[in-house]
Formats: sequence, structure tokens, C-alpha cells
Amino acid sequence: MTGLVLQAEILAIGDELTSGARVDTNSAWLSEQLQELGVAVRFHTTIGDQFEDNLIAFRIAANRADLVLVTGGLGPTADDLTRQVLATVSGQPLVRNSDVVSHIERLFQRYGREMPLNNLVQADFPASSNVIPNSEGTAPGIDMDVRSEERRCRFFCLPGVPAEMKEMFADYVAPAIRRWLGQPGVTIHHVIHSFGMGESHIEAMLPDLIRRDRIPRVGITASGAVISLRIAATGESDDVCRHQIQ
Ligand code: ATP
Repeated sequence: MTGLVLQAEILAIGDELTSGARVDTNSAWLSEQLQELGVAVRFHTTIGDQFEDNLIAFRIAANRADLVLVTGGLGPTADDLTRQVLATVSGQPLVRNSDVVSHIERLFQRYGREMPLNNLVQADFPASSNVIPNSEGTAPGIDMDVRSEERRCRFFCLPGVPAEMKEMFADYVAPAIRRWLGQPGVTIHHVIHSFGMGESHIEAMLPDLIRRDRIPRVGITASGAVISLRIAATGESDDVCRHQIQ
């Protein structure tokens, strides 16, 4: 441990949040995760889908936080603005990433659907950013440093869809923050697919297994007829993680 204390801000984007049509559960969940990692969450900000408002909120966050977690606005439609906002705030052009184009094309092929061309914008990333992989959906996340006069701030942008957001946080963001804080550790994932029973039935059969504070963490997701248990073990070594999973 380095004793480093990071100040964080969480941004939740979407008209459905500011209108009250949907409650922002993402920020609450992310706050809990950050606190577990020892990161101080200073601000929650909720913004609609307007470009100028997003610019203001991103700039303020970049000036007052070391670490900003953003959810929403990564979809393929015209009101999904996170990519453009981040490019503008950082002064970087958007560049199309061919690996991400292939990933999106594969997902559409897997579901036997033709890919609408506007989905390709989800492969556009600010030049000096890193891609946060999203195995479940078409919107990868963005990991990027934004430098302002005051400080350097790292943005992690994730999709709004809670199941995708949580998986990407556990797989990519939490390990990145642990490394930043100098906390050694590895995370290993194991997925068990099942079918023939509904999600709530399986959940009722395994009440203790999917308890929130369980070690290792077990999440349950449904896709068509397949119910998947996603186990994420974090520990000091591969052996410790595999033992937890066992
Ligand atoms: P998509 O690829 O689905 O468009 P996105 O990153 O653009 O992803 P949004 O379109 O903003 O995300 O949100 C997708 C869905 O995720 C919303 O309809 C809503 O159901 C849910 N969602 C978004 N933000 C939140 C939030 N802060 N809390 C809870 N649910 C959310």
C-alpha cells in the first residue's frame, strides 16, 4: 500500500436520469466499489444528453478529481455523446479502432443481425485513450488521462447498462485502480453457463452464493435461455483466487 488517497467523482449521463424516469443506481454501486478500494468519492453529478452540459461537467470533474467514473452515453445514437465530449475536453481527435470494429461486427454476426452503420461510431476513440473491453455488448469503454492546468485526471467511461458496467468495472477498472494505489493482487474470472431453469428460480436456489459481500463475488446474468453465474475472485495470487473459485 502506498498511502495514496485518490479523490473521485462519478458522472451519470442520460435524459432519463435527469427527468426522473430512471433512478441512477450505477453511481450508488460504483461508490460502494470505490470505497471498498479505499478511494474517496467526493462528488456525484447527473447530466442530461446535451453536449454543452456534458462539456461543463467533464471539465469541472477533470479539475477537481484524480479519478472520474462515467456511465452512459456510449451507445450508437446521436444523443450518445461521451466519445465526442471526451475528445473535446482532452483536445484529441477521434480515431476509429479496427479491433473494435471487428468486435462489433462479430457480435452482430453472432446474433444473426445486420449491423447498422451507425454502430461503427462505437469504435471511435480519442487518440491517446485505451479501450476497456466489453464482452457482453457493443459499447466498449474508454480509459483516458485528461490534463488540465490544475492536475492530471484519469477518466474511465463505461456503458449505462448496469450488467455490462459492473462486469467491466470488476474486470478492468478495479484492477487498474488497485495497481495505481500500489495494492498487489490478481482477479480471476470463471463462468458457469446453465439452462433449463429461470433466473429467479436459480437465484432462489443459491441465495447465499450471490450475496453481495460474498468472497468470491458471484453475479448472475440471463441471455435468452442461458443463465450464467459469473465468479470473480480477487486475491494475492492465482492460487488464492482459484481456491476461492473452487
Ligand atoms: P447503450 O449501448 O445501451 O446505448 P449507453 O452507454 O449509451 O449504452 P445509455 O443509453 O445511457 O447507455 O443507457 C442504457 C440503459 O442503461 C438505460 O436505458 C438504462 O436502462 C440503463 N442505465 C443507464 N444509466 C443508468 C444509471 N445511471 N443507473 C441505472 N441504469 C442506467
